Amino acid sequence: MSLSREHLAQQIIDAGRFLYERGWSPATSSNYSARLSASEALLTVSGKHKGQLGLDDVLVTDMQGRSLEAGKKPSAETLLHTQLYNWKAEIGAVLHTHSVNATVLSRLSLSDSLVFADYELQKAFTGISSHESQVEVPIFDNDQDIARLAAKVQPWLERHPDCVGYLIRGHGLYTWGAQMSGALRQIEAFEFLFECELKVRALHKS
Ligand SMILES: [Zn+2]
Repeated sequence: MSLSREHLAQQIIDAGRFLYERGWSPATSSNYSARLSASEALLTVSGKHKGQLGLDDVLVTDMQGRSLEAGKKPSAETLLHTQLYNWKAEIGAVLHTHSVNATVLSRLSLSDSLVFADYELQKAFTGISSHESQVEVPIFDNDQDIARLAAKVQPWLERHPDCVGYLIRGHGLYTWGAQMSGALRQIEAFEFLFECELKVRALHKS
């Protein structure tokens, strides 16, 4: 059953309020979306404060990231959202945040990915049922050319059908879910793991 535009817009507004309050979407950063149909997504418009979104602050795009609403400008990173909807039909919501921990950890990690292992909370990710499995999170270098960045993300997604999220270095996190609630759960799990990882690294150094 697909949800109405108004229902999905409300989910995006509620997600924005929650993510802003947690400090994971400061200033006008971040963007959120939900799948409206097989060929359309509902996305936050460019440049809005994410803790104060209204029903008019979302727009419909096609799955190539083009606005289907005259006069409304989609977020710069729209293509990274539609890429995920095109990758998997079961994805119903995509969240992108700019937290301090995601930013710092992705800058500290010089390798191309982070691997989380032996954390109980890994089970919050879709498809993970044990702390014994590993969660690999790729880190892509930041790029203002979003089409070029998407072209780097695509081969990773194709090689890793179980991928649950990725980082952009010095920038932020992308994760998703079948519904908004699942995407929010994965954001919380990632933020918990990022914070643990930074604390472990800080203690190891002292
Ligand atoms: Zn961003």
